[in-house]
Amino acid sequence: MLLWEFLKQEAQSKNIHSDAKAAKVWLQDRMPSLFVGDIEQFDWSCEWPRWQANFRALLWLAKKRSKPPKSNQCRIPWWVTQSIDGELDRVRMRLVSDSLGDGIRVWPSRRDGSPAINLHIFGRVDDLDVLWQGAFLSYLDPRAVNASICEMCGEVVPPTKHGSPSKSRVCSEICRTKLWRLENRDKARESNREQKRAQRQKLRLPIRHRS
Ligand SMILES: [Zn+2]
Repeated sequence: MLLWEFLKQEAQSKNIHSDAKAAKVWLQDRMPSLFVGDIEQFDWSCEWPRWQANFRALLWLAKKRSKPPKSNQCRIPWWVTQSIDGELDRVRMRLVSDSLGDGIRVWPSRRDGSPAINLHIFGRVDDLDVLWQGAFLSYLDPRAVNASICEMCGEVVPPTKHGSPSKSRVCSEICRTKLWRLENRDKARESNREQKRAQRQKLRLPIRHRS
């Protein structure tokens, strides 16, 4: 799933949008997978109001996506605009590489102003500035962000070989099975029963004695 979808899921299941303690624990837990290395030391007293405002905007956007307005002329509240524009202000257009043929692309920027190459190549986030640019861009212009997250385990799903965000909902066969079981509880229960029955049958088979 895309970065904004993952953040929405985490807000709904773990309350990270409104519970500061849960948000900090979540950040720490996501360090080795979603975030690159150690996240820079940030001042939580500054980050927390921004975090809440951005989540409020993101959840408003998410609601509109789940129930699209009848007309395309849906007005965006000022506080949503403020969050989106505030974060996307840091996004830049830059050359993709030193090869002219690669053209230009949208680059989210790290806090130090350098392009977020890790997001571009590996779909991983350098700091909270990159997180928010990535979150809003993944909603408004998904091709600009390569971060795609497994909805079962939260691992980054690598971009496609063409450098686009993966559309896969999961990172591996193990997570695909977990997702299937979650979405097909009745069938999963039935297949569990089948497996147990087969196991019991196996145990009941007569033991062959050597003659
Ligand atoms: Zn996974």
